[in-house]
Amino acid sequence: MRKLASIRKIADIRPIDGADRIETCIVDGWEVVCKKNEFKIGELIVYIEIDSILPERPEFEFLRERKFRVKTIKLRKQISQGLVLPLSILPSNRTYKEKDDVTEILGVKKYDPEGEKERQLLTQKADNSKNPIIKFLMRYKWFRKRYIKPKKGGFPSWIVKTDEERIQNKTAMFDIEKEAGTEFIITEKLDGSSATYYLEKIGRKYYFGVCSRNIHLKKPDNSSYWTIAKELDIESVLKNIIGKHNRIVLQGEIIGEGIQGNKYKIKGYDFYAFNLIYPDHKASTPEIFYTLQDYGIKTVPILENHFKLKDTISEMVEYAKGKSLLLDRKREGVVMRAVDKDISFKIINPEFLLEEEI
Ligand code: AMP
Ligand code: MN
Repeated sequence: MRKLASIRKIADIRPIDGADRIETCIVDGWEVVCKKNEFKIGELIVYIEIDSILPERPEFEFLRERKFRVKTIKLRKQISQGLVLPLSILPSNRTYKEKDDVTEILGVKKYDPEGEKERQLLTQKADNSKNPIIKFLMRYKWFRKRYIKPKKGGFPSWIVKTDEERIQNKTAMFDIEKEAGTEFIITEKLDGSSATYYLEKIGRKYYFGVCSRNIHLKKPDNSSYWTIAKELDIESVLKNIIGKHNRIVLQGEIIGEGIQGNKYKIKGYDFYAFNLIYPDHKASTPEIFYTLQDYGIKTVPILENHFKLKDTISEMVEYAKGKSLLLDRKREGVVMRAVDKDISFKIINPEFLLEEEI
């Protein structure tokens, strides 16, 4: 579970041009518009990340119109991401220190439409069950809760999930890699669903697996994950490129109808690879591109091959803004990966977030 609410420090405070009642508080790499003089530099505060859903409490009434969701907003041309709250918002029966996770104490939940879709996928699977007893029991919530819960081991434990951390939460890494002059490959971040395909050799047989972000979809169905697997014949492609190895993993983003509002206006589904993992190495993005292009499988658009970090996180966020290479609209952001280290993170374009509907 992500730390949606945590104890952090006000790193800096900046005035906002033409505004005399508000100012910008800097918390790690985040910029948050606050009432003037409400906080001091160095003060410990509660920081609540964007995409948090706050509980219905009188203190949070001001968020009712936004369905209690913490969103990216813009005030006087200043982007504001997240909420800064005084420690007094927390129960006073204990003490708090920097980095403490207070997500549960505050009852903060994650706004997670992609996760919601995954849960629906499971419900559908159970709904389609032909077993009459299961069908009958599905009427009861207690049963659905038990039956639908993804079983442990549902996602192969040897495969790393595709999550990426936000640059704003990685200030220490940022400073180190900037100093070191580390080079990064930058790709466009696509706003779809994460898919994982793998081939595993067990004895003499190959086993082909299809997974969503967190769930192994054991049987072929008409989900986007299996539809793409069949359309691109990913099983054969993996058999062709597995070579002498006994495992290979292909991960990418599916976009299209019914996925995140189909922002790319695609008919059916489309797939863009971003990971190709062999037991002995993880392919670089250019290697993924060259390996897969002959099979008609696309790779996420590459923006830079040897990028060095800019001076500040705000400049990096500025860089993440821009148009998508898939169609004429703002991109969701970028994903950055060190060329020769296992370091990666995402930078979401705040302008893209501003355009999202509630
Ligand atoms: P988020 O969608 O904000 O949870 O960010 C992490 C996800 O971005 C990963 O799980 C991937 O599914 C997805 N993603 C989209 N485009 C890319 C890309 N170019 N490189 C890596 N991951 C990507
Ligand atoms: Mn996403």
